[in-house]
Amino acid sequence: MRELHLHLDGSLRPETVEELAKEKNIKIGTLEEIKDKMIVPEDCDSLNEYLERFALPLEFLQNKEWMERIAFELGEDLAKMGLEYGEIRFAPQLHTQEGMSQREAVEAAISGVKKAMETYPSIRLGLILCAMRGDSNEKENFETLEIAAEMLGDVVCAFDLAGAEALFPTENFENLFAKAKELKVPFTIHAGEAAGPESVWKALEFGAKRIGHGVRSIEDDKLVEYLAEKKIPLEVCIVSNGDTKLVEDLKDHPVKELFDRGVRVTLNSDNNTVSNTNLLKERKIAKERFGFSEEELKQMDDYAKEASFLQ
Ligand SMILES: [Zn+2]
Repeated sequence: MRELHLHLDGSLRPETVEELAKEKNIKIGTLEEIKDKMIVPEDCDSLNEYLERFALPLEFLQNKEWMERIAFELGEDLAKMGLEYGEIRFAPQLHTQEGMSQREAVEAAISGVKKAMETYPSIRLGLILCAMRGDSNEKENFETLEIAAEMLGDVVCAFDLAGAEALFPTENFENLFAKAKELKVPFTIHAGEAAGPESVWKALEFGAKRIGHGVRSIEDDKLVEYLAEKKIPLEVCIVSNGDTKLVEDLKDHPVKELFDRGVRVTLNSDNNTVSNTNLLKERKIAKERFGFSEEELKQMDDYAKEASFLQ
């Protein structure tokens, strides 16, 4: 099994947050209260409610030691789940609030996942560095890209764009991805999640190798055909899409239709803690609620293998 779309800051163990808070005398309540702050409720009804769940974890990802530990622990969680491969992503610019530089944040995460691979040789882990949608962080985004270009290798494997897609459209980031192309840094882009097909078209025009989510491609028949024909993988995260109300009712999620129409759908979990999910759960939901057969699950895993940034 392979996980291609997983955010570090959305996948911390609440127990770790409790332990680190105690260590530094930060008062944040009981484990149950911590979980409420980190996991969306079953009836999560907005993207805002979802995004609020990243505030607390980010406070614990502001120094090298904790960053390394948390990256290690996520690698360990994936290995223990039986995954053979996982790409973990984060935005280095969100980890500089207490003086850590973007580069130091990336180095700490590399060290954490390397340690996880040494401890659990059955798994291979990669890191994707995310730029953030916004209108006042161009400098930070270019810095992230330069670090990705410089560190591209056996762990850092790609670049991404995350954040508020509806507020800051993909077309605003043309220069950033022109530079990524020039630097030969492969990239995926979160698109077709909060915005429609036009966002996916833009990402493809920029040269994205994969699309993060991309499920709203279903609104454009030509785009669905194009994705199938050009074999563009979609990193689909079913539970997360339900939480952020991309689909009003989870049963209306287009994951099976996209797959049946020939799109290279891969299953992913987006945020193990925030969405209270993981790849095993996503596969179970795909099977039980969307009628995927065992062979079809295997097919999606093969798509993920082909789409992996580390080959
Ligand atoms: Zn995501």
